[in-house]
Amino acid sequence: MAPSRPARRSPGSWSGHDRDRSSSGQPRPKKSLGQNFCVDPRLGSEVVARLAPTTGDEIWELGPGPGALTRLLVETGATVRAFEIDERWRPELETRFAGRATFHWGDFLELDPTPFVPASGGFLACGNLPYYCATPMIRRLLALPRRPDRLVFVIQEEVARKAIAQPGTSAYGFLSAQLQLAAEVKMGSVFPPSSFRPVPKVSSAILELRPLALPANEIARRQRALWLLSVMLRQRRKMAVNLLRRALPQVEWQSLFEQVALPAGCRGEAIPFATLLRLVDAVPADAWPPAYQAAEPDGSF
Ligand code: SAM
Repeated sequence: MAPSRPARRSPGSWSGHDRDRSSSGQPRPKKSLGQNFCVDPRLGSEVVARLAPTTGDEIWELGPGPGALTRLLVETGATVRAFEIDERWRPELETRFAGRATFHWGDFLELDPTPFVPASGGFLACGNLPYYCATPMIRRLLALPRRPDRLVFVIQEEVARKAIAQPGTSAYGFLSAQLQLAAEVKMGSVFPPSSFRPVPKVSSAILELRPLALPANEIARRQRALWLLSVMLRQRRKMAVNLLRRALPQVEWQSLFEQVALPAGCRGEAIPFATLLRLVDAVPADAWPPAYQAAEPDGSF
């Protein structure tokens, strides 16, 4: 006699036959949401040590998932606010951390977190970020009206290396400049793929950011530097002076390059930050595109 088929279950079933959950009832990791959960306790310890929270601080965690890092964060005594897109974790997280952490459900890149920014006290942010949207998440945090005092993330090692890369190196690019002009940037330990489940294809690393306290006119200056860099990195192999000439033809770029001691044939990716900022200062104020003419920008980085 042929074995009978198991009865069909409803889509929301918690049984072992639910494709969305494992036999233990845990949500199955979703690749589309970058769910590679941390199984190495050293990782959470390093995140917390670098955040160095104290009781009065508020910590934001992006992507708590099953809550391994969340547990360490609430144990510090700080106020914890976490943002998670995957509502399958809702019953577990809201029960386990009831009264100890606040959860916001939805896409962190879509919701407006501004109303939750603490007005006073220490403000920290962290997360083992999903690979597919780690950079936009970091940018979003750095664009808040009040930026966190310290941010510590677990991200793809390659992206962490780009974040700390210096001009003139192969890893250097717009992200390196954007982060380093806005913050002190450090890379921490590297964690192999075996530190996560399911095991990803690449290694991860800790990235720590300490946003710089900059006056508004300095933020405006650095935003102009980033704009110049975006023009110069559009075609990395081309001479910077030619790309800039095309973007702002009314500026005498050749003579400005001489003024800041840059070789005429140099490429944008090789220009050190200090020289880039000197170049910004040499451009006449009315030559900038309208969005970059204000002495004080309306937003931060
Ligand atoms: N913190 C957990 C850990 O370390 O094991 C999970 C980290 S897992 C790499 C990334 C987490 O980010 C997942 O829980 C995923 O559902 C969540 N996530 C992915 N995209 C998101 C988004 N746009 N907004 C909020 N959370 C997101």
